[in-house]
Amino acid sequence: DRIISANLMMDEQAMELSLRPRYLAEYIGQSKAKENLKIYIDAAKMRKEALDHVLLYGPPGLGKTTLSNIIANELGVNLRTTSGPAIERPGDLAALLTNLQEGDVLFIDEIHRLHRTVEEVLYPAMEDFALDIMIGKGPSARSVRLDLPPFTLIGATTRAGLLSAPLRDRFGVISRLEFYTVDELAYIVSRSAEIFDIAIIGEASEEIAMRSRGTPRIANRLLKRVRDYAQVRGDGIITHEIAKSALELQQVDPVGLDSIDHKMLLAMMTTFAGRPVGLDTIAASIGEESQTIEDVYEPYLMQIGFLQRTPRGRIATDQAYRHLGMPIPER
Ligand code: ADP
Repeated sequence: DRIISANLMMDEQAMELSLRPRYLAEYIGQSKAKENLKIYIDAAKMRKEALDHVLLYGPPGLGKTTLSNIIANELGVNLRTTSGPAIERPGDLAALLTNLQEGDVLFIDEIHRLHRTVEEVLYPAMEDFALDIMIGKGPSARSVRLDLPPFTLIGATTRAGLLSAPLRDRFGVISRLEFYTVDELAYIVSRSAEIFDIAIIGEASEEIAMRSRGTPRIANRLLKRVRDYAQVRGDGIITHEIAKSALELQQVDPVGLDSIDHKMLLAMMTTFAGRPVGLDTIAASIGEESQTIEDVYEPYLMQIGFLQRTPRGRIATDQAYRHLGMPIPER
């Protein structure tokens, strides 16, 4: 039951649904992505056309699913949601596509995990709104082209580089989501508290925000844990002191690092004595998956300047040594 995890926790789905902003105006932060999308959405509506295909990328929990819901809402169309690994055969995708109505949005989460054969069905669908299906077998087999209604594909992935080039090239809009500022997260925490009828003071929202590693999903998770603590150890009101004690108990440090971040940085500083290390080596030494480190842990450590990627491997920066109270090595 980790705070920093790419997967949704049990019972979290319901919570996320009630916290999800429904319109662009309610969606905090990401001003660059928002401003661009607003223009494309308005233009598509004025021309009564389907919006161009959109690729959203960035670490988990930054609001990619939320944003695609908002896009469909703002366009006033239906949204169908699926994920890369859930589409097993080309026929599954064909069924999804033929059920779309004109202008609808199809959201594919983890789009980098599509099977190759499925991905190939997507190319003509995205480019020409057409489906090529094979009829018959052997020498008499022939391909028939089926027209699809114009639709918008929204793909989400943790890193754009994970997509094959032909797939990436078929997106007209490619948008990177950024980590949120402390102010933005504090606002999100206050908003969630209001929705759940939780009494919280401003400094406590800010304390949670500082420890949420730039990520709304983590901010909402921490708020929930702090609320439990306030109920059991306090009188239900989240004061600054309550927030701090609760967060310390969760082993989330003042800049939002958890025990895995600490283990990883300490391994780099001690086991590998500050020398550049490869991702797989780090992962093996602390018993984590490389993919989790690369998608979930590393982006934030780099964002706050604790980790650097060099051509020879990863190194912890002086700032990281200082944060952990370790002697900075001679380089
Ligand atoms: P992703 O798809 O990138 O993993 P989600 O869209 O599922 O992330 O967002 C996780 C949760 O964070 C959502 O339930 C939502 O409540 C919250 N959230 C994300 N982005 C925002 C935002 N810009 N403003 C307010 N809440 C947000």
